[in-house]
Amino acid sequence: MSFDFDLFVIGGGSGGVRAARVAAGEHGAKVGLAEMDRYGGTCVIRGCVPKKLMVFASGFGDVVERANAYGWDYGGGPFDWSRFRTRLEGELERLEGVYRRLLKESGVETFDARARLRDPHTVELSTGETFTAKHVLIASGGRAVRPALDNAGLGIVSDDIFHLDRLPETILILGGGYIACEFACILHGLGVGVTLYCRGDQILRGFDDEARGLIAEQMRARGIEIQTATNIAALAPADGGDGGRGALRVTATTGGERTFDRVLFATGRAPNTPDMGLEDVGVELGARGEILVDEYSQTAVPSVYAIGDVTDRINLTPVAIREGMAFVRTVFGGTPTPVDHELVPSAVFTQPEMGTIGLSEEEARAQGPVEIYATSFRPMQTSFIDRPEKVLMKLVVCSETRRVLGCHIVAPDAGEMIQLAGIAVKMGATKEDFDRVVAVHPTMSEEIVTLRAPVRS
Ligand code: NDP
Repeated sequence: MSFDFDLFVIGGGSGGVRAARVAAGEHGAKVGLAEMDRYGGTCVIRGCVPKKLMVFASGFGDVVERANAYGWDYGGGPFDWSRFRTRLEGELERLEGVYRRLLKESGVETFDARARLRDPHTVELSTGETFTAKHVLIASGGRAVRPALDNAGLGIVSDDIFHLDRLPETILILGGGYIACEFACILHGLGVGVTLYCRGDQILRGFDDEARGLIAEQMRARGIEIQTATNIAALAPADGGDGGRGALRVTATTGGERTFDRVLFATGRAPNTPDMGLEDVGVELGARGEILVDEYSQTAVPSVYAIGDVTDRINLTPVAIREGMAFVRTVFGGTPTPVDHELVPSAVFTQPEMGTIGLSEEEARAQGPVEIYATSFRPMQTSFIDRPEKVLMKLVVCSETRRVLGCHIVAPDAGEMIQLAGIAVKMGATKEDFDRVVAVHPTMSEEIVTLRAPVRS
């Protein structure tokens, strides 16, 4: 049977674009790709990239104060959101252009349209076109979800932040995950008054307790109000507010009413699977609407594969890219390649950042005897000017094998540090391997190789 395409990819985000490019460019496959929105997907257009640029912008908030404490005589001034936003929009346009160009140069035929499956080998586009493909790869990503709350439409989600006309004076952020905590720090750094309601007893559920405790402490010390065990009971336009640019009245589950200029829902994301014809052709979905796949990213329908956030495995861009590459090797390279989801390092871009790989202390303890090596201290750069910032370097070590099971760093640029420490952990380094490395002095990260005695075992 002949098909219009060897591969049709649904979704032009990081995972889909990589798979399409490599299948076409390196394996000579005839590839089509449909994207209904902007090329680059969540990461490039409304996630990691614009978020990180905002992290950079907000990091300058106290630079004058710090420089002056060091002896400079700088003048300050307010942050100009519209100037930043104009530059950001230009950068995102440039990156989108890069993605489109890379696809074109690899010979991928692109369609600016929504796609759905008609049968295991046929996709139909919102333009009315229909194509057959030997393989279909679904890389349609995920979307922010709002809580089931009356008037939830009055709040915004993370996608909206980059398009605000002006920054609010005050914002309530609901949620305690990556997005809630990162935007709490970013917006606070840009001068917004930030309150965060988290329904759990601590932010960043799932991360190492000591590390997330330090981040919460440091966020509060900077002036972010964090209320744990708190949710929104009711949301309504405040008197005189229009709910859009105007103020919102929030009733907390803990009682009391307060007014905020904006409410941001950072309450999780859901896979983009509705109305794609998936169940009709036999693709199985899980309880959260995620596409169920095997270790090769193959769905219950042999010709249909899925990668990235739509599968809700580990929702990180580099993981989606790995899944895309493994799919191409499996299907077009003749080498069945499972995706390695073990020991994936990641960073939370709070201020200070958290870099982490492997097991938290709590997870490791549940598996067997461990030794905990940790130190928390005031780093030289900020202690010199009497600032209260603290950092944490922590290793979770298996008492029997001596292997480092987890490494958790809370510090400025912890994301950069964990990428490198992650190599050692992924290689199976023991505590003694870390100890054999000579410290780089004076740095914050030298502490990771000079942790002498366990603090707990
Ligand atoms: P998360 O799932 O990480 O966090 C959602 C938060 O919202 C949790 O605190 C959750 O509470 C809370 N929540 C969920 N539903 C409700 C509700 N109805 N009412 C009140 N609170 C609620 O999602 P995010 O949106 O923060 O991030 C999505 C994913 O995006 C992450 O898992 C991550 O993979 C990825 N990401 C990665 C980043 C990075 O690598 N730096 C940055 C941003 C996103 P509870 O814990 O109690 O369930």
